[in-house]
Amino acid sequence: MSSQQAVAEALHQARSVLILSHTNPDGDAVGSALGLMWALRSLRLRAHVALPDPVPANLTFLPGANSVGGQELVDDQDVCVVLDSSSPQHVGDLFEYATARECRVINVDHHVTNVRFGHVNWINPACPAVAQMIYWLLPLLGVSPDPKIATCLLTGFVTDTNGFSTPNTTPRLLHDAAELVTAGAPLADIIREAHLNRSLAQVRLWAQALQSLCFEDGIVWTVNTPAMRRAAGATERDSSGLSTFLLTIREAHMAASFTVLDDGRIRVSLRARPGYDVAAVAARFGGGGHPPAAGATLDGPLDEAVTLVISAMKAQVADYSATVEQP
Ligand code: 5GP
Ligand code: MN
Repeated sequence: MSSQQAVAEALHQARSVLILSHTNPDGDAVGSALGLMWALRSLRLRAHVALPDPVPANLTFLPGANSVGGQELVDDQDVCVVLDSSSPQHVGDLFEYATARECRVINVDHHVTNVRFGHVNWINPACPAVAQMIYWLLPLLGVSPDPKIATCLLTGFVTDTNGFSTPNTTPRLLHDAAELVTAGAPLADIIREAHLNRSLAQVRLWAQALQSLCFEDGIVWTVNTPAMRRAAGATERDSSGLSTFLLTIREAHMAASFTVLDDGRIRVSLRARPGYDVAAVAARFGGGGHPPAAGATLDGPLDEAVTLVISAMKAQVADYSATVEQP
C-alpha cells in the first residue's frame, strides 16, 4: 500500500478527526486544513481544524475560517492529521496537547526536512503545496471537490507558489489548478484576497524596515523591531512577505528579513533564487523549510543573530559560485 493509500485508509477508519498545522499558518496550512475538513465533513465524518495561531487577515475569506480554533477543539478525536509541518516543534505546544491522548497521528507534508513523526507519514517534496496532496487524496476518499473544497485548496497552490511564480510550478499543478477552477474556485478573487492584500500598518512597517536595508555579496537583508511595529501600528506577523519582496531586488541572490520578536528572540525569514539553498542555512539554526524559502528562530541579541545568519548565507553563495565556476 502506498503512503497516500495508507492516509486514505486511516481516514476511512476514523470516527472523529482533528486537523492541525504549523505556527504562523500560511495559505497552504489553512487552505489544505480547511479543504480536508470540508472533504471529510462531506463524508459525514466529524472534523475540526485547530491551529496554534489565529488565521491571518488575508485568509479569513476562506470558507470555514471562522470555525478554526485552538486547544479548545481538542476532544475525543481518534485521528489527528498534521499538515504542512516538518516537525512537532513546527506545530508547537498544540501538538503535544492534541496527541497526549490515544490518537493516530497522520503526517502529510511536502518539506524535504520532515522528520516523519506520524504513525502514518506521507511526505512528497515534489509537490509545491500540501493542498495538492489533499487534492490527490480526494478520489481515494471518494469525494469530488465542491466550490468550498476547491477554494481552500487552490488558495494553498496560490500562496505556496507565490502566485504560480516559483520554479516548482509544474504542468501538473497548473492542470490541477484548472480543475479546481472548473470545480468553482474563484482564482482572481483568491489571488486578490490571499496574495495581493496588505494593511496600511504592514506597509508602514515595511517602510521602516527598508530604511535600514543592507546589501553585501549578493545578500540583502532588513531588520524590524518592536519599536518599529509600535510606530506603524503593526504586529509581528506583518513582517511576513518582506523577505519575498526583498528577493525581487535584481542584484540579490538571497534575502533575509529579521524580526525582533516581543519576547526578544529573533525570527528570520529566508528566501533564495533557484540553485541556492536557504533550508540548509535555516537548519543550522534549528529551523527548516524548502531550498528557496526557509526560516528559523534564534536567541538574541540581534547583532549576533544577524552576523551568524548572514555569514552562513555568504558561505552558501560562495559554495554555489565555486560549483558553477567549475569547468
Ligand atoms: P516563512 O519565511 O514564510 O515564515 O517560512 C518559509 C518556509 O520555511 C515555510 O515552508 C515554513 O514552513 C518554513 N519554516 C519557517 N520557519 C521555520 C522553522 O522555524 N522551522 C521549520 N522546520 N520550518 C520553518
Ligand atoms: Mn506548504
